[in-house]
Amino acid sequence: MSPDSKKNLKDFGEADFKALADGLNLPAYRGRQIAKWIFGKGVLTFDEMTDLPLDLRRTLEDGFFIGRLALETAQTSRDATRKFLFRSSRDASVETVLIPDGDRRTLCVSTQAGCRMACGFCVTGALGLLDQLSAGDIAGQFIEVARETGERITHVVLMGMGEPLDNYENVARAVRTLVHPEWIGLSPRRVTLSTCGLIPALIRFKTEFPRVRLAVSLGAPDDERRDRLIPVNRRHPLGALMEACRELPPQPRERITFEYTLLRGVNDSVEDARALARLIRGVRCKVNLLPFNASPVLPYERPDEAAVDRFARVLASKGVTVTVRKSRGRDIEAACGLLAAGLLKRAPQTADAEAGGAAEPPPGRAPKPRLVQVSPPDRPV
Ligand code: SF4
Repeated sequence: MSPDSKKNLKDFGEADFKALADGLNLPAYRGRQIAKWIFGKGVLTFDEMTDLPLDLRRTLEDGFFIGRLALETAQTSRDATRKFLFRSSRDASVETVLIPDGDRRTLCVSTQAGCRMACGFCVTGALGLLDQLSAGDIAGQFIEVARETGERITHVVLMGMGEPLDNYENVARAVRTLVHPEWIGLSPRRVTLSTCGLIPALIRFKTEFPRVRLAVSLGAPDDERRDRLIPVNRRHPLGALMEACRELPPQPRERITFEYTLLRGVNDSVEDARALARLIRGVRCKVNLLPFNASPVLPYERPDEAAVDRFARVLASKGVTVTVRKSRGRDIEAACGLLAAGLLKRAPQTADAEAGGAAEPPPGRAPKPRLVQVSPPDRPV
């Protein structure tokens, strides 16, 4: 078998390991053993699978491989946040951020290389979609960062580059790998998926993974502004989004997190805070305010602390639970909305490919770079 036709076991799910064992006329437990070596113990070679017979290890070597993300660079921020740049199995650049906070180690994982959602306050959106990440490359970020740092990662947020629900099958498979008790073994409650609000996929995901936490990016309290800031709103407007959120089956102790990026003079007024409180009424939720992290490629400014504080106090006075996100890793462009900034600077200016085409950029938005789109999205949203 040529090396190119070998299959990457990191992309396998439970059913695939069972099929692998069936295909080799082995009992099902052999498939489980292999999966456990790869995802539970993080081995890199078949020879490390010491409880498998030697001839089985050779057979596996002939038909399969254990894929890895190649680490290109790692940077550490003044606040100890670390950013990793990986090369994916399909040669795309992938950024991952490890955020230490007391005993907590949160890994912010990317699900796509770039993103086609074109949210106005996000550098990744300016990059356009370059590639979908495979399940192995999504869960692999956890495995590689844990190996590289020796840290015990306690939480995962699917909030890095990309809209997770725009790469549904691969993300779902990666989440299963993360929470499988014999594999990576994270509690589903310690995994959060963040979306800009693709309603059908959001409902499907919460039905399949009821205990995984959900964060929804709002960006504006009305459709007119949200159409511009989060263009997917033109297909999934706020009313429908709130209705979907209200109707999600309630989980004990769970509240949806509404992310709200505060942009100076755009969506940060007292009236906007009141409108936001009205919008989310009746949803079991909390609001996380994200003061915008400025970038030269985006046309917005960060509000001052007084404006952020005023906005938060108005929400709190309406009975909303509200937090203000600390900006972490800004000096290494690891903070929220800044991922892909380095990739954007290095992007080839060689082709006319339109990056994704989910929606037009909002008026006033910096022009998109010219990029080669190497892979179409794998499913419509
Ligand atoms: S905020 Fe998320 S969904 Fe929007 S462009 Fe950025 S990565 Fe994509």
